Amino acid sequence: MPESLVERLQNTDEILLHYFPLHSALADWGKDLESHLSEWIVTHPDAYQEAIRLSLEAGCDFVSTSTQAASPWRAEVFGMRSKVHEHNYLSAKLAKEVTPAGKYVAGFVSSTNPDFLEPLGKMTRQEVYNGYKEQISALLEGGSDVIMIVGNHIEESIIAIQVTKDLANVPIVAQNVFYLGKKGYRTMMGHDPATASRMLKEAGADVVGASCGLMKRPEDAADPKNYYQFATRLVSEMRSGFDGFLSIQPNAGLARLVGGQTVYPATPEELAAEAPNWIKAGARIVGGCCGTSLEHYRQLAKAVRN
Ligand SMILES: [Zn+2]
Repeated sequence: MPESLVERLQNTDEILLHYFPLHSALADWGKDLESHLSEWIVTHPDAYQEAIRLSLEAGCDFVSTSTQAASPWRAEVFGMRSKVHEHNYLSAKLAKEVTPAGKYVAGFVSSTNPDFLEPLGKMTRQEVYNGYKEQISALLEGGSDVIMIVGNHIEESIIAIQVTKDLANVPIVAQNVFYLGKKGYRTMMGHDPATASRMLKEAGADVVGASCGLMKRPEDAADPKNYYQFATRLVSEMRSGFDGFLSIQPNAGLARLVGGQTVYPATPEELAAEAPNWIKAGARIVGGCCGTSLEHYRQLAKAVRN
């Protein structure tokens, strides 16, 4: 049996790179996402596999399936409810076909959106469980080596962790989305970073972390130079009072609309300059979210492997 992602973290002191932002790469390459991303993947399998190959060449150790909108709930919004199995199964299978031994495919799941678990929303725990079971079982059937859960509702993420544990013995990475307010970083449900990290670990996640989100206040958006330093602060806060494996994947700054185009201000050089501090603060898995290009990853790989 090859080493699993968690065994790699346990048996070595390697820093692992995780690739997720295919949605940003497609925009960079001028690919028009005329349809739902998962539908695009299954109708453009060669382009999808090329994107996976490029991200691995850029230095990534594992890639996610870009199935954030392939949950039963999101699929329903896009009129694709009957395609949930196909989208998740094929996104994992196609990625797995071009991922060599020693690298991993992570089946990606996100929050329930547009409805939420009660009492915030109307869905019961059983409904949320069943929805995640449908998605995660298809991702595992397609060959996912890891399940990656990124959510802004921690109780839903905990249900997704339970579903994964009930279905298979695979590593689980669970990342919260944090918002920076007057009291500091909090989840949507009001948990501070250390508490939120402990909750996901206690539920059974092997690695916990943070991704996407507003790691910086909107009023600071004029100073993109410091953007990635906010991620360092967040890693330090997750680390305080928590001793498990940590991951961090911030956006490339706050998106701005310039001439009708979405632009992310934080550069690959800024990422490379700051990422070593994420590691000093305790992160073992690093990467980016929205707006992070392959060039960001190339420079990140150089910086963290020195
Ligand atoms: Zn993002």
